[in-house]
Formats: sequence, C-alpha cells, structure tokens
Amino acid sequence: MELTYTQEEEAFRTGLREWLAVALPKLPPKPSPDDWPGRRVYDTGWQRALHDAGYADVHWDASPTQRLIFLEETEKAGAPYVGANFVGLLHAGPTIAAEGTPEQRERWLAPILRGEEIWCQGFSEPDAGSDLASLRTRAVRDGDTYVVTGSKTWTSHAEVADWCELLVRTDPDAPKHRGISWLAMPMDAPGITVRPLRTLAGSAEFAEVFLDEVRVPAANRVGEENDGWRVTMVTLSFERGTAFVGEVVACRRTLGELARTARADGRWDDPVLRRRLGRLNAEFGALWRLTQWNVSEATRTGGVPGVGGSVFKLRYSHARQELYDTAAEVLGPDALDLDREWTLDRLSSLSYTIAAGTSQIQRNIVAERVLGLPKGP
Ligand SMILES: Cc1cc2nc3c(=O)[nH]c(=O)nc-3n(C[C@H](O)[C@H](O)[C@H](O)COP(=O)(O)OP(=O)(O)OC[C@H]3O[C@@H](n4cnc5c(N)ncnc54)[C@H](O)[C@@H]3O)c2cc1C
Repeated sequence: MELTYTQEEEAFRTGLREWLAVALPKLPPKPSPDDWPGRRVYDTGWQRALHDAGYADVHWDASPTQRLIFLEETEKAGAPYVGANFVGLLHAGPTIAAEGTPEQRERWLAPILRGEEIWCQGFSEPDAGSDLASLRTRAVRDGDTYVVTGSKTWTSHAEVADWCELLVRTDPDAPKHRGISWLAMPMDAPGITVRPLRTLAGSAEFAEVFLDEVRVPAANRVGEENDGWRVTMVTLSFERGTAFVGEVVACRRTLGELARTARADGRWDDPVLRRRLGRLNAEFGALWRLTQWNVSEATRTGGVPGVGGSVFKLRYSHARQELYDTAAEVLGPDALDLDREWTLDRLSSLSYTIAAGTSQIQRNIVAERVLGLPKGP
C-alpha cells in the first residue's frame, strides 16, 4: 500500500517542518535517562510547545494521514518522542476519549494535551501479568468512593505521574473477567507508596506501587462497574495498535545511521552484514505500511485500533531487537560503552518483547483472533 497526500496534507507537512526547524534548536539539553523529574520537565515542556503551536491533538483529532505525517516529520527531524507522556497521550487519553463521559473527557483530556498531567498504567500485578484478569487489587465501594487495597508492579513513570489508569477487582465473586473496573486514581492520594525498580539500562523507569486503603471517587470510574475488562481491551488496543508507531520511523533513521557507519568504516563490503541491513530495511518498510493500515482502519471503524495491533507489536518488538543486535555488530567494542545512547537503546530493546504483552501472548491472539485457530488447552 502506498499513501498519496493531498495538497492540503502536504501544506500541513511543510508548516510542521518549518515550525520544527525553529522550535528544535530552542530545546533545553536532554536530561540523563535516570533523571525522571528532569525528564518530566523536558517531556511536558515539549508537549506544551506542540500544544501552543496547534499540534497537540494530532494523536486524537487529526486525520490519519496528518497523524502519519506528524510522526514521520517529528521523527525525521529528531524531535523528542512522547517520553513520560506515553501513557497519557497514547493510551489512557485515547481510552477516556473513547469510553469516558463528557465530564471525564473535559476533566482529563485537555491537561494531557497541554503537557500538564502525566499518567501511568497500573495494570500488572505480581501474579497477574500475561493473565491480567487474575488481578487481585480490590476496590470496595463506600458511598461515593472506592477504597482500594493491593499492589501493582512494573508501573512505568509511577514516580512522576499525576494519575494512574488502574484496574481493580470490584466483584470478587464474579468470573474473573467480569468483576473488574477501570479507575483513574490520583497519584497523590494518601495510602500510595511508590518503590522504584532499576532496569538493566540503569534507569529507574518503573516501580512497584503499593495501595493501602486508597480512596478513589466513584466518579473516576471509566465505563460501568465490573465492565472494566472491556475498557481494558480498548486501552490495550491503543497500546499495541498505535502507541509505538512513531518509533518505527526512529528505527528507520537508526538503520540509516548504521548503514552510513558501516560504509565509513569499511564494513559495507561484508555481504552478510549488508544482507542483514537490507532485510531490516524491508522489515521496517513493511511495519510502516502496517502502521498506515492500522491507523486508517482504526479511523474507519470508529477510532479504536483492531487486532492488527498484535501483529504489529509482535513483528515490531523483534525487529527492534534485531536492529540493535546489528548495531552492536557494526559498533564492535563501542557497543559496550554505557554512555552511548545506542547501548542503552539496545539494552532497553530487550524489554519490547515483554512490555504491553509478551510475544507469546501476541502469538496466541493472532492465532485465535486473526487466523481463527482453536483456543489452546
Ligand atoms: C519495560 C516494561 C514496562 C512495563 N510497563 C508497565 C506499566 O507501565 N504498567 C503495567 O501495568 N505493566 C507494565 N509492564 C508489565 C508487562 O505488561 C508484563 O511484564 C507482561 O504483561 C508480562 O507479564 P509477566 O511479567 O507477569 O510475565 P508472565 O505472565 O509471568 O509470563 C512469563 C512467561 O510465560 C509466558 N506465558 C504466560 N502465559 C502464557 C500463555 N497463555 N501462552 C504462552 N505463553 C505464556 C509469557 O509469554 C512469558 O514468556 C511493563 C513491562 C516491561 C518489560
């Protein structure tokens, strides 16, 4: 599939390019990967700049082609990625836009778009990762609030978040997929303890979150009580279907840099390496086409991405790992230098086949829901 752009869309591209050429040199230096408070300031500052220039709502309200142009141009120009805004902009916000009441949309969407409020995702628990519906964090109704007790793990950006999209069990007696609710929990509520976890790449990117009788207003529930599994599927569709698409352009840029490095240091004559780079080029080209398909399909079918997101997530997370393995081959001993961004990117690429649902789980989904194969035992 090849997309062609109208004159109007090309004008959008030109305007965005011109704005980026002026805005990017004004950016402050990027904080170190471990400086989460600094990254919050940096990432929200960039979101604010996008908002003030009229580009903030491109993830939600723009046409699919404008969205793709935005992703292409920002990545090509080396603009910051969404960073700490990832959950708010790319899956909590879109879930509220799709499933929230007018009051909820009014309360939460604008601050996300203005870069004022950061969200995190409290889905996984120590015994509920792939089998997410086994979650045990419970919420007991007390008048117009829920009293929440339990624990979450691998909560990215919890340390700097203002809100958490939280899954809780509101009916312990119902079948496990039926007794769940989706809440927006304020992260400054009494009873929340955040304990950061350090990753292989050295960053305290995610945390354990302990909840001890945390009071969350019932008005913060998105969707009906005990209908949270359906809302969760909407969130996961955004997370797998469209949240990573900008990164494909970034990977293509890294691949180009890798080919230039291989040319400069004489490795280009190695036919095995050249074939590997060529294959990766084809893989990322195909992923970009799949992205275009997913974004336009989501728009045609009411805004929520379909099961194609699992195909994308599966292929993308493996291609990303292979890209950074190839980078290590090209860089040689420099690939072990922990001060290089590529080294950190390589270490973090290992997490991509786990985060947002493991590759095994995506294969199960593709087998059952795309190929129509029978369910496993
Ligand atoms: C970088 C990173 C960021 C994350 N951020 C967040 C976050 O912000 N919020 C959040 O809630 N969670 C987050 N997670 C958690 C992530 O969603 C879970 O790690 C993931 O869903 C897997 O769950 P688990 O770790 O409990 O593994 P398990 O479910 O224990 O799985 C262990 C292994 O068994 C396999 N397996 C399990 N069940 C099946 C099956 N039915 N068929 C075949 N194989 C199976 C899995 O594929 C895996 O290989 C993050 C994870 C990472 C790595």
